[in-house]
Amino acid sequence: MTDQNRPKTDNAFLGPLKGGALDPTYGSALSFMRRRYSRDLNNIDLVVWGIPFDQATTNRPGARFGPSAIRRASAIFDGDPQYPFRLDLFERLAVVDYGDAAFDYSRPLEFADAIIEQATAILAESAQLFTLGGDHFVTYPLLKAHVARYGPLALIQFDAHQDTWPDKPGTISHGTFVKRAVSEGLIDPAHSIQIGIRTVAPETCGIEVITADDFDMLGVDGAATRIVERVGKSRAYMTFDIDCLDPAFAPGTGTPVAGGLSSREALAVLRRLGGLKLVGGDVVEVAPPYDHADITAIAASTVAMYYIGLLAERRLG
Ligand code: MN
Ligand code: MN
Repeated sequence: MTDQNRPKTDNAFLGPLKGGALDPTYGSALSFMRRRYSRDLNNIDLVVWGIPFDQATTNRPGARFGPSAIRRASAIFDGDPQYPFRLDLFERLAVVDYGDAAFDYSRPLEFADAIIEQATAILAESAQLFTLGGDHFVTYPLLKAHVARYGPLALIQFDAHQDTWPDKPGTISHGTFVKRAVSEGLIDPAHSIQIGIRTVAPETCGIEVITADDFDMLGVDGAATRIVERVGKSRAYMTFDIDCLDPAFAPGTGTPVAGGLSSREALAVLRRLGGLKLVGGDVVEVAPPYDHADITAIAASTVAMYYIGLLAERRLG
């Protein structure tokens, strides 16, 4: 069948690698933003990958359903120029959906090694990886894989929580990955920053914190400037815990905390980070069982779209 004769649906397995898709938003095989499902990473700029894991959750489980909900919500974005980037991201970047990570749900202590191995294999072939979680523990093995390639990284963390709790021996938790990452030298705290924090943790691990109160004083521009100044010229990994947003904008999450950023505020901050050397990222903690009308999944899919948009603009420059 020639390209012209192909049905204009199911871009996830029939469509061309680049350019937009003609699938209706309510139908067709789902992939992230209608990208082709592929494990052929030849000349791929960015891989989107799902990690349906929530066994490190402390409160409400359900983030294992995050990747599929984010993919479904991302169907509202097709290949047309996307606001606020005003360009077709997929004319600039070759992006594929790699599907989901493989791991044995009954062996949670072996989970990190399984992810490190698979993420390392993806990064050996693809320029960038953006991951859909999963609870926030998934960021620990993702950082391991990125640091093996790039060396220690600056961390930009959108979150209600600092995630700096110490690990108990032989356990995993979604509230400890930052402490682990700093003690193992994966992230450079002097160039790292957290935004949206509104809970108390035992320590900062040397990371700069913009609390929700600070954000009220700083506003979008002030907060973005603090992030840009803190990260500087360092290579950076961006992790977006959806509970950075107020539960009004992200009810579908495991540990919601009142008084967070609006979707618009967080996206406006993200929009201003295009000058940074972003080498990878994730959006985590989307728990669809507590969501309503896909509010949370839409916010998370938009965060992922913005990350890709920032890379596409960089390709322009
Ligand atoms: Mn977190
Ligand atoms: Mn959190």
